[in-house]
Amino acid sequence: MAGTALRGRLTWQVARVGQVISETDRVRTITLDVPDWPGHRAGQHLDVRLTAEDGYRAERSYSIASAPSEPVAITVERLDDGEVSPYLTEELRPGDELELRGPIGGYFVWQPGDGRPLLLVAGGSGIVPLRSILRHREHTGSQIPVRLLYSARTLPDVIYRGELDQGADGVDVIYTLTRQSPPGWSGRTGRVGTAMLTEVAWPVPDAALAFVCGPTSFVETVAGGLVGLGYPPGRVKTERFGASGGT
Ligand SMILES: Cc1cc2nc3c(=O)[nH]c(=O)nc-3n(C[C@H](O)[C@H](O)[C@H](O)COP(=O)(O)OP(=O)(O)OC[C@H]3O[C@@H](n4cnc5c(N)ncnc54)[C@H](O)[C@@H]3O)c2cc1C
Repeated sequence: MAGTALRGRLTWQVARVGQVISETDRVRTITLDVPDWPGHRAGQHLDVRLTAEDGYRAERSYSIASAPSEPVAITVERLDDGEVSPYLTEELRPGDELELRGPIGGYFVWQPGDGRPLLLVAGGSGIVPLRSILRHREHTGSQIPVRLLYSARTLPDVIYRGELDQGADGVDVIYTLTRQSPPGWSGRTGRVGTAMLTEVAWPVPDAALAFVCGPTSFVETVAGGLVGLGYPPGRVKTERFGASGGT
């Protein structure tokens, strides 16, 4: 088993694209049939490698969007001037092949056996690994209370909105819209800062576990804010997607 997991992590392999699902104008979920997949944990990511006809290669990391009990899926946001994401979101079709390796990461992971209330904070496509955590919680029948604070530019930019709005027992979903909100919007607006975190975060910080994911500057602001509220740094798990992406 350990040997299989290690081989899976280190070796590039060819996966076949199953479905390409449109989540928003700019975001697609891609399900993948990976022949030699050793299984993953909620929160892990994988690497995708594209090779051009002239041999030029580009590699990017993508969080795994699906629960461990489901087929592997990634959710990719198109950056118009990006190298890899426009191909994955616009060109890829069911049946196409894609090189990947994974699963990767042993720190930004959640296991249902951890009994602490969860605070999940997402900026833009940072929702992807948190969705895996939410689905894993649901599939394992975990009753752990969850608060999800999700920052998106506008309501149509909210990824997995249908799924999140369906709700689940014990899961509070709080959106904040940073660019534009629809008429009559009664949810939150503006960027996540200390005031919003004070209202949303669990009141006894050292009893909770936080997962924060999104663009680097977003993650740093939120993680710093949580530590300022008394969350021990070791209880604030962070995943940075880089400079790009939007909240
Ligand atoms: C662990 C991890 C998990 C991730 N998970 C996801 C996920 O689930 N979903 C998701 O959509 N993304 C995710 N990402 C981000 C993803 O890896 C890519 O960075 C993203 O898709 C952009 O890649 P790209 O090739 O399209 O853009 P790139 O070509 O890398 O460009 C990205 C941006 O940087 C700018 N840029 C590029 N080169 C330069 C330069 N030399 N100087 C200045 N600016 C430059 C571009 O203009 C563009 O706006 C994750 C990243 C990490 C590290």
